[in-house]
Amino acid sequence: MAKVLLIDDSMTQLEMLKMQFEKFGFETETAKDGSEGYRKVFETAPDLILSDIVMPNLNGYQLCRLLKNNPRTKEIPIILLTVLDKKIDKFWGGKSGADKFISKTINYDELEEIANKLIAQSPVSDEYKKVLSENSVSEEAIQNEINMVLDELLMNSTFLNEFRDLGEFLSDETTLIEKTFKLLSSFVDYNVAGLFLENPDKNEKNILYLDLNKSSVSNFVIEKIKRDFFVQMPGLPKFTIKDFGHSIIRETVENDKTILDASEFKTVHIVPLISNNNLIGGFCFYNLEECNYPEFKFYKTMVNELQLLLKMHFLYSETEYLSVTDGLTGLYNRRHFETNLEREFIRTKRYPADFSLAMIDIDHFKAVNDNYGHQFGDYVLKEISDIMSASFRKTDMIYRYGGEEITVILTETSLENALIPLERLRIKIANHLFSYNGQSTHITISIGVSSNFVDVKTQEELVEFTDKALYKSKQEGRNRVVTYTHEGFGNILQQQ
Ligand code: GH3
Ligand code: MG
Ligand code: MG
Repeated sequence: MAKVLLIDDSMTQLEMLKMQFEKFGFETETAKDGSEGYRKVFETAPDLILSDIVMPNLNGYQLCRLLKNNPRTKEIPIILLTVLDKKIDKFWGGKSGADKFISKTINYDELEEIANKLIAQSPVSDEYKKVLSENSVSEEAIQNEINMVLDELLMNSTFLNEFRDLGEFLSDETTLIEKTFKLLSSFVDYNVAGLFLENPDKNEKNILYLDLNKSSVSNFVIEKIKRDFFVQMPGLPKFTIKDFGHSIIRETVENDKTILDASEFKTVHIVPLISNNNLIGGFCFYNLEECNYPEFKFYKTMVNELQLLLKMHFLYSETEYLSVTDGLTGLYNRRHFETNLEREFIRTKRYPADFSLAMIDIDHFKAVNDNYGHQFGDYVLKEISDIMSASFRKTDMIYRYGGEEITVILTETSLENALIPLERLRIKIANHLFSYNGQSTHITISIGVSSNFVDVKTQEELVEFTDKALYKSKQEGRNRVVTYTHEGFGNILQQQ
């Protein structure tokens, strides 16, 4: 015979329920409030618990939480019964782990059906009942357990909120990482923490951010930490150590200790960050003391929240990256070019400095498409983009301006100085054998270049000048670099 434990502070209600359940064929036990009910769970090992919500001492939600939190009692199905019928009550009923939440006005046939169904779905085993009844609990133990569960819930939600508040900084990586370290250091002990996130922008380095907490660290140690990420992180072959820079985000002013050698660390804890089955980064803690991080009470919450936060940041920067880049070549797109050219214009008006603008167009590209096919043409575009990305300074930004036209903004570079890398590029391309799918050919490019000297009033005018220079380069026979200024064309370099 199945046993039900009925808990209600109203005697009449309790009597009525008892009568009904006996009619259903149940053995019944009763308790007049939550704490008596909790004790009786251990004394009577019921198959089902049906409890009121609003009761003195320990209410139905709290009772439910306690039972579901205890491995010895969590299997027993619980029905919460109440006159309250607001959404929020159902919400808390669900949160507390109740298996079913029903109104006191429910008809008894329905109640019987639900009770039987719950017991059938998760039958409480005899073994389980035996363990329960052998371990009765004292009033004091109940109170301690209640306090512990409530404290833990409060701590966990405070903890969660601290992480969620960082969501505000998703768009600003440095601030986000800075605040994350600050939060981590407030509740986790470590001497060095590291955090690395893949940079969706292939033109930029991946950065390992470091927080030196009460320590100062030699370069040797930093290199070792960087290496650790490659050796210990599963799936890292995707990255190589040379793709990595590092940045020390927080350094405690009063250093307690200078760590000269990584072997001084007694604990190294490394955790990967995964998004859509892809490794997107990781974090690590280094400690001079022996320390078992996964044993930390909120470790799981911390890892989950960190993963969530960094994943959101990664998606954010990926979206941002995709919106400024071109899919075929990986270069920045035209819209980004316009934004950056304007920014560079304004910046150099405010803080005078030279910068140059180059426009590059592939020679007879239509013929390449016609002779070798469009796919081959796409390959050529991609290959030229890659060669360009590798040959300019990191501060020079490269854009796909149009179909087969590429622009470069060369910052802090006079027109004269711009000619050096541009001419080098022209020669490099002219000497490169483009091979794809068994077909090979040589290709040349024409380059027009101008600069932000005083007479250029607007960025539109600068683009116009550069365009003029490019046109001239085509006219003069292609495969050359031509400049244009108010003084006219110049520096027409001879073909090699
Ligand atoms: P030139 O610049 O030397 O005067 O001759 P061209 O043949 O390169 O000049 P034109 O501007 O007439 O042709 C540009 C061609 O570039 C047209 C188009 O077929 C090709 N093109 C533009 N965008 C792409 C692309 O994304 N992929 C491929 N395969 N071809 C493209
Ligand atoms: Mg063209
Ligand atoms: Mg062309």
